[in-house]
Amino acid sequence: MTFPPLREELRGIAPYGAPQLEVPVQLNVNENPYPPSPAVVADIATAVAHASSSLNRYPDREFSDLRSALADYLGHGVRPEQVWAANGSNEVMLQLLQAFGGPGRRALSFAPTYSMYPEYARDTVTDWVLGHRETDFSLDLEAARRTVVEVAPSVVLLPSPNNPTGTALPPEAVSMLCEAAGDGIVVVDEAYGEFRRSGTPSALELLPSHRNLVVTRTMSKAFALAGARLGYLAAAPQICDAIRVVRLPYHLSAVTQAVALAALRHAPELLGRVDDLRAERDETVRWLREVGLSVADSDANFVLFGTFADRHSTWQALLDRGVLIRETGPEGWLRVSIGTATEMAAFKEALTEAMEESR
Ligand code: PMP
Repeated sequence: MTFPPLREELRGIAPYGAPQLEVPVQLNVNENPYPPSPAVVADIATAVAHASSSLNRYPDREFSDLRSALADYLGHGVRPEQVWAANGSNEVMLQLLQAFGGPGRRALSFAPTYSMYPEYARDTVTDWVLGHRETDFSLDLEAARRTVVEVAPSVVLLPSPNNPTGTALPPEAVSMLCEAAGDGIVVVDEAYGEFRRSGTPSALELLPSHRNLVVTRTMSKAFALAGARLGYLAAAPQICDAIRVVRLPYHLSAVTQAVALAALRHAPELLGRVDDLRAERDETVRWLREVGLSVADSDANFVLFGTFADRHSTWQALLDRGVLIRETGPEGWLRVSIGTATEMAAFKEALTEAMEESR
């Protein structure tokens, strides 16, 4: 054994992380560009001060108030015992694989998909299997159903809207895959759910029909609360109970619970910017198409566009102009998060110059 005694399969692997560069226009990690208003900041500060007076005690490990508030927010008849929360939906996803994956079991997704899933599978020693999406990033339903039946995964991971493509899954796809998965669970990752275009339904509607369906959400995007780390899921109570077995004791700090509860009290205001971002997203899609690029239809707060013979040099040309976007997705594509109108104007100007330069 060599020192440090790192697991063989982790040797030489770089830790995950998009570059955190100090540039004027940061459009690379799908954050919400609008900071909380002074009124929200004040309410959060008061809630944290209150929580601080009992920090000598461990927090409510069942985070009962928060579960009720999240259930109320989700609607669709979701009850508090159907809600589970953790430090970001990243942790929720890891807990799902700790509980339902493991050695000799398989987790399945369809590429291109969220880049963190294979890491959660690796860390929980779950076999990782990748099906594929069509060239327009949709799922061929019949092929996907066959893959689920053949692979017999204990966990299917379906981001909808998908990261990095922005593609939402139709409810028929979710229902069909829930049925095909048998006793396996189907996780519909709706981290970007609130940004759906009108007419695109949420998988929350299907919860009463499928006991193996899990819908995950986060406060990082629509609630503009990425720094607070609060993700959650809605599922059958048996699924929430199973996760309790693998969670760390008191995993959700009293401060986190207080911050999330305060933010939920301001849901209408925090979510008020979502409509602006959706409009800006649709305008970005329109503009990118107008300048002759291919653009994936997006139900999220980001847009995947291309294709570039040398995407890295386009990414670099934007960075040189103070605009940081993401080099991700299939070869030749780039992803831009939706920022404020001013930030999107800077992005368009930088991209126009970069494209002229490369002509
Ligand atoms: N799922 C998807 C599809 C994501 O893109 C992200 C964030 N990039 C997450 C989950 C995790 O978000 P968080 O941990 O901040 O809730």
